[in-house]
Amino acid sequence: MRLERSISAFARARGIIAGGVNSPVRAFRAVGGSPVFMKNGNGAYMCDIDGHEYVDYVLSWGPLILGHAHPNVVKAITQAAQRGSSFGAPTEAESELGELIRSMVPSIERIRFTSSGTEATMSAIRLARGFTGREKIVKFAGCYHGHGDSFLIAAGSGALTNGVPNSPGITAGVARDTIVLPYNDADAVRKAFDANAGAIAAVVVEPYAGNMGLVPAKAGYLQALRDLCTQHGALLIFDEVMTGFRVARGGVQEREGIKPDLTTLGKVIGGGLPVGAFGGSAEIMTHLSPDGPVYQAGTLSGNPLAMAAGIATLRAIQSDATIYDRLEVLSKLLCDGMHEVLEKHGIPHYGTYAGSMLCTFFAAGPVTDLESAMQADTALYGKFFHAMLDRGVYLAPSQFETAFVSTAHTTREIERTIAAADDALTQVLAAAAQRA
Ligand SMILES: *Cc1c(COP(=O)(O)O)cnc(C)c1O
Repeated sequence: MRLERSISAFARARGIIAGGVNSPVRAFRAVGGSPVFMKNGNGAYMCDIDGHEYVDYVLSWGPLILGHAHPNVVKAITQAAQRGSSFGAPTEAESELGELIRSMVPSIERIRFTSSGTEATMSAIRLARGFTGREKIVKFAGCYHGHGDSFLIAAGSGALTNGVPNSPGITAGVARDTIVLPYNDADAVRKAFDANAGAIAAVVVEPYAGNMGLVPAKAGYLQALRDLCTQHGALLIFDEVMTGFRVARGGVQEREGIKPDLTTLGKVIGGGLPVGAFGGSAEIMTHLSPDGPVYQAGTLSGNPLAMAAGIATLRAIQSDATIYDRLEVLSKLLCDGMHEVLEKHGIPHYGTYAGSMLCTFFAAGPVTDLESAMQADTALYGKFFHAMLDRGVYLAPSQFETAFVSTAHTTREIERTIAAADDALTQVLAAAAQRA
C-alpha cells in the first residue's frame, strides 16, 4: 500500500512536533512502521491523506460513539461557534450537560467539567485527599488514568511496598504516596488497607480496565473494593473516562450495580471535543473551591463548543432505548468472528467484550490482569495490524488497547472486517513460513 504522503507528513511533523506526534501511541512504535495521517472521517470510516479509506475501530480512542462527523454533533458545534467560542463566564449549556449526565449516572449529584480526562482524575484524587485528610492512593497495574504524576507509578518490589516512578520527572515523594496493586485481586487491596491503616485517601480503578486491552472485572471484585473503602473510610473512585457511556448509559457502575464515591468521565461526554469531568455526592463535591478549600480551575473548562458536542451526543444516547444492546451485538459479532478466524489459523487467543468495547488478545488467556495481558504475542499483533491496514481496517496501533464500535458501524463493516482478518492472517502466516 502506498503511504507516500503520510510518510512525508510524518517527516515534516518530526521536524516541529516532539516525536512527530502529540500523544505517543499515535507514533506506531508498538507496531512498527510510519503513522497514517488522516484527512477526514464519516460515520464508521475515515480517509488518510493518500486517499485510502478505513473502517475505524479506534474512533479517536473512544469518544466517537456516534461515528465521525455525526450531523447532530456537527450542527451543534457549528451553531455554538457562531454564538462565540468561549466567554470565561458561565453558560447554561454547562448545567444542561451536567443534568443530562446526572440523569444517566445518578451517583453524580454534583459535577465539575475539565478539558481532559487527565485533569479529571488529577482533580478527583486531590479532592479525595482534601476530603479525607489522607495522602496515599491505591491504583492498579495496567489501569491508565491519564498522565498525572500520581498515576505514572509502577509497582514497587514487594506487593505492599510503595510505588516507583514510571517516568523520569516524577519525584520519589509522589511515588511514595501511590500504592500499585494487581487488578482483579481483592485480597491485595485488603492487605494494603491493613498495612496502611488510616493513610489511604482513595482507591482509583478503571472498573473495567480498558487500557491494557479490555479486561473486565471478575465477579465480586468491584463489590469487594466498595466494601473495603467503606470499611476503611477511603473514597472509591471509578475512572469511567473510557467506560462511561460506552458499556451502558450509566457506565460500569450501572452494569455492575456498584455506587462509587467519585466518578471521572471524559471521551464520549465531549462528543469528540476536549472534555473531562468528575463528580459525586453533593457532600464531597462541596469541598471544591469556591464552596470549599480544595482548589481546581480551568480557563476553557465547560467550553461552549465542547458542551454543545457533548449535549448532542448524550441526547442521541438518551433518546435511543436499544443503543447499548445493538452496540453489544456488534461487539460480540466481531469478537466471535475473530475467535473463529484465529481458531482456524491455530493462533492462541482470548476475546473480551462489553457494550461497545472489545479486545482480542493474541494470548491463550484467561486475561485477568496486566501480567496475563503481557503474555500476548505483540510481534504477531504488529504484523496483523499492518496487514489489516492494507485491507482497509484501522485497528489500534498496539495490542494493549480496546477496540470500539459506534452506532455508524453495521454488520456489513463487521463481516468485512472478519473476512479481512482471515485474509490478513493467511498472508502473515505464509510470510512467516517462508522465512522459516
Ligand atoms: C483516556 C483516559 C484517561 C485520560 O483522558 P485524556 O483525555 O486523554 O487526558 C483517563 N482515564 C481513562 C480510563 C482513560 O481511558
